[in-house]
Amino acid sequence: MKCPICSVENNHPELYSYSPTTIDKLKLFDERSIVQCKSCGFGMIEKDVDPDILQNYYTSEYSGKAKKQVETKNTDNRTSYSTDIRSLSQLTLIRQYIDITSDSTIVEIGAGTGNFLFSLKQVKYKGKYIAFEPQEQAHECLRNLGGEIEKSIFNYQSAIKFKDSVDLLIMSHSLEHFNPGEIKDIGGAVKLMLKKNGIFFCEVPNANLELYPNAGERVVPHLSFFSIESLKVLLQNFEMNIEFINACGNKQLEKNTSQKIEELDKKGYFIFDVDQKNNILRNRKYHEDMAIESNRQKKRQLFLNVLFKLFGKKMVMSLLDFIRKCQQRPQTLMISDSQFSYDPSREFIRLIARK
Ligand SMILES: [Zn+2]
Repeated sequence: MKCPICSVENNHPELYSYSPTTIDKLKLFDERSIVQCKSCGFGMIEKDVDPDILQNYYTSEYSGKAKKQVETKNTDNRTSYSTDIRSLSQLTLIRQYIDITSDSTIVEIGAGTGNFLFSLKQVKYKGKYIAFEPQEQAHECLRNLGGEIEKSIFNYQSAIKFKDSVDLLIMSHSLEHFNPGEIKDIGGAVKLMLKKNGIFFCEVPNANLELYPNAGERVVPHLSFFSIESLKVLLQNFEMNIEFINACGNKQLEKNTSQKIEELDKKGYFIFDVDQKNNILRNRKYHEDMAIESNRQKKRQLFLNVLFKLFGKKMVMSLLDFIRKCQQRPQTLMISDSQFSYDPSREFIRLIARK
């Protein structure tokens, strides 16, 4: 196999299987291996997944974070004292390289329910924000936060209309969802959209499968698995200037995923029902847990709605905000979170590159 990132020919690449998952998955994840390039450490599903199958999976089936958030919570109850540590730590890093002003244009690929946009608003950002997000359930949240939505799948073609217009392009935990055969196209699209001196921020799992075999990175539905080296090589291919690359979060070598999987297995988390029509394996326990959680959230929302009726929404939301303010950890504790600590063996690679 020829590595799509560094172009080195690998004759007998290491083969890995996907780890058992607690969500619904395409059947093909049981049938295809992950192969790893010996030279740059890039891992990839052995054969690209058909784009139509993938799109259908993401728009309707995929039980990622975004879907979980909206399936269980039908309204967005975030208030000014809600915090998302990941995006706040990302912003802390990004602001060392770009002054985000209200004239800036920010595009995010794979925005989910808008955690990054929410944090941007918290730091008083008033500029233009556009989200590429295929999951329809997330759109309402994004719109309510003032984001514009681009429904098309992100690729070189859909990037053309934004040529040379973007100051900051964000890809947080989305690049690993693209087919290995498409990664270079995505890199080209990113460069195309950025203004001269524009900044690309990318965060992906630190998924060097050889170095961290027990860190739980062989995750469904990831298709591309980055090492720090392979992400570097990718950006160098596009002659973009890498200004920062390192990893944050928990330490990869301290994780023991095989033990976790064993425990989950005992609790029956890996029982699947086959949906023959679209070759999807449905995780029984996932749907049971989801139903319970959904019920709990519905009750909570019902209770909130009664309070809204009695005291007005504004009053109740201020109260919620006040409760969150009281519950909030001191700021000093927040920055001791592992999302603010960097070391190449930690779990998330963060990259800042300039056009
Ligand atoms: Zn390679």
